[in-house]
Amino acid sequence: MNRERLAGIRSRLPGGRAAAALTFDDGPDPRFTPAVLDVLADHGVVATFFLVGRRAERHPGLVSRILRDGHAIGSHSWSHPDPSGQSFPRLLREYRRGRRAVEAAAGAPVRLFRPPMGDVALPSTAAAALSGVRPWLWTRDPRDWLPGRTTADILGAVPALEAGDVVLLHDGIELPVSDEALDRSATVAAVPALVRRAEAAGLALVTLPSGRAPRS
Ligand SMILES: [Zn+2]
Repeated sequence: MNRERLAGIRSRLPGGRAAAALTFDDGPDPRFTPAVLDVLADHGVVATFFLVGRRAERHPGLVSRILRDGHAIGSHSWSHPDPSGQSFPRLLREYRRGRRAVEAAAGAPVRLFRPPMGDVALPSTAAAALSGVRPWLWTRDPRDWLPGRTTADILGAVPALEAGDVVLLHDGIELPVSDEALDRSATVAAVPALVRRAEAAGLALVTLPSGRAPRS
């Protein structure tokens, strides 16, 4: 059994259902999260948003709207440090504070979690476990976080979706390689085609299940 299984980290939806999931990290972002929400509403589909705690604290109205529109939310640390450069105590504070900030903005418990940069090294997985969260990675990364990435690039990287797929997208960007990556327009524009591809494959777009946290 690998470390991800041991730590209760999921990347694929449970089997037995013709479903896939769109996930949006690093928000909420006042410039682009509303646009993502509009597109999802236009298509009548739901997604999961992994929110940076300090951003959720700054934009509680966006958090409310995400929930009101029927989406799921998870935490994505307090300030999105690169976990590989952090001590275990710092990561534990980051993950706990991030979860608390998202819960405060949501007014409800939040179990879903995605480690910054998908880090699954031991300090990160241990800090997540002690934070009582359910970590999720992804099966498909169209690398929409790369500066200069176009909608065509994003769609070209996900030509088809399969049952169980979890797609990593970004409605905000932390730690941008350049300011160019802060513009999320290409991702917003890719969402309708991704929805159509899921529908063409007979897949329902669903929120990630939070289940029971591995430990709390
Ligand atoms: Zn992130």
